[in-house]
Amino acid sequence: MAYVITDECIGCGACEDQCPVSCISAGDPIYVIDADSCIDCGNCAGTCPVGAPQAE
Ligand code: SF4
Ligand code: SF4
Repeated sequence: MAYVITDECIGCGACEDQCPVSCISAGDPIYVIDADSCIDCGNCAGTCPVGAPQAE
């Protein structure tokens, strides 16, 4: 299980600093989560203003 950032992402970057394992990085054009590192904590989903991170 891992979270995935969907196309709703507006690239604000708010989630990046909230990830305890630093597995979120800026992509092109949306932010991306490294599925192998994600520990499913949900911080990114709780921070995102548009609900882009979704649990797979
Ligand atoms: Fe990082 Fe947690 Fe979001 Fe996974 S669910 S990307 S560990 S903040
Ligand atoms: Fe994208 Fe949401 Fe992260 Fe902002 S907080 S970069 S909109 S996923």
